[in-house]
Amino acid sequence: MPKKGLLMDGVETKNLGDLDSGTEISQPAAQIKLLADWAYENLPAQSITTESDIKLQNRREQALHEFEEELQNPESNFHKFVIWVQNFLNDYSRGKMYDEDKPLLDLCRGYKFNINTEQAARRGWAGPVHSFDEFIDGGIDEQKIWYLVRALRINNGYSEYLQGDSQTEFIGFTDGNDYIDKDYTNIKDVTTEVFGKDLLKKCAISEVSLLSDTVNVQLGQEEFFLKTEDYLKLKQMSREIAPDINIADYKYRAFSDQNWNDPKSGYNFFPTPIRLLKIIDEDLDDKNKFPYLNGFDEAEKTRLYKLGTLFHDIGHHIYFYLLDSQKEIQWQALINKSGHLTNYSSRYSSGIAGDKVKYDEEFSEAIRIYITNPKFLIDNYGDIYKFLETNFPDINPLKTV
Ligand SMILES: [Zn+2]
Repeated sequence: MPKKGLLMDGVETKNLGDLDSGTEISQPAAQIKLLADWAYENLPAQSITTESDIKLQNRREQALHEFEEELQNPESNFHKFVIWVQNFLNDYSRGKMYDEDKPLLDLCRGYKFNINTEQAARRGWAGPVHSFDEFIDGGIDEQKIWYLVRALRINNGYSEYLQGDSQTEFIGFTDGNDYIDKDYTNIKDVTTEVFGKDLLKKCAISEVSLLSDTVNVQLGQEEFFLKTEDYLKLKQMSREIAPDINIADYKYRAFSDQNWNDPKSGYNFFPTPIRLLKIIDEDLDDKNKFPYLNGFDEAEKTRLYKLGTLFHDIGHHIYFYLLDSQKEIQWQALINKSGHLTNYSSRYSSGIAGDKVKYDEEFSEAIRIYITNPKFLIDNYGDIYKFLETNFPDINPLKTV
């Protein structure tokens, strides 16, 4: 019987969503604070969450609630399942195996364990963990039992989702029949054409929404969703009171939340949204920053960068759902050899990820370039191109070059 209170042990509740900014971690803190204070005082009252966040947070809390309710109900299948998993793990770690344990063992062996060294260390396991046998290595404890229960439950939800007929919705791109931003014209068809219906379904994206006049800026712990005009005011003020920071570096361009289905924080599977914010104030002409946009005309650079931001975030979903342990190991070896693919991923790694390579960030950048300028990848990162072409033959790069 699971003990009461056991549930929350080892459960991380913080937001594990991906934040795409490239913000450096060594922020000149005093100037950041000055600027955040100024924004609070002088700009119109801003919401610190979007509606989408709230909806997702509600879903997540509901999932936790359901998880706890089922757990308390000794008649529920879930309750029986938890006990089955516990007994199975106990048997397995003692070197015993019964016939009724076999299906669970198969399920566990088929499950994609991708726990990096850092995550494993936080749980007191030896890492990295890529397979059930590595997971079980060193014995079992309550954290492992709960990890596995959540993993199998989420996996089950994902399988059910794949059998259903829900599709990714595209929200906020049109006003009547007109596209608000012509760079996103026919965005649903374009995206479906690029990834294919089947692959897109496996990415489990509930919706792609465009917040077309919203600039997201995060200053220290403070988060602002600003109208364009307010962003420009903030930028103007930053030159005066925070000359050491470049406000454009604190901008977030998109959010994805596929990590909420990671068993280290999730309880139930649900498809998650991608939110695109306004793209503004980018140095797309900077050849060092954006070498893969070099050679396109002004308008095309902007269009490809906007679409590329969506493709990048879909890339996170592909990495999360579709790169199995073996492929992930291959991918990491390729990146170790090639180094950072873009200025963005290099800044991301030296910032938020604190010098550690964020392999999924590199992967998302690779997907962006593979689709928007495959020739750049062929010419500069042939192995990476080959990896994507071989493993994701369904992806059709845009015909841009
Ligand atoms: Zn990213």
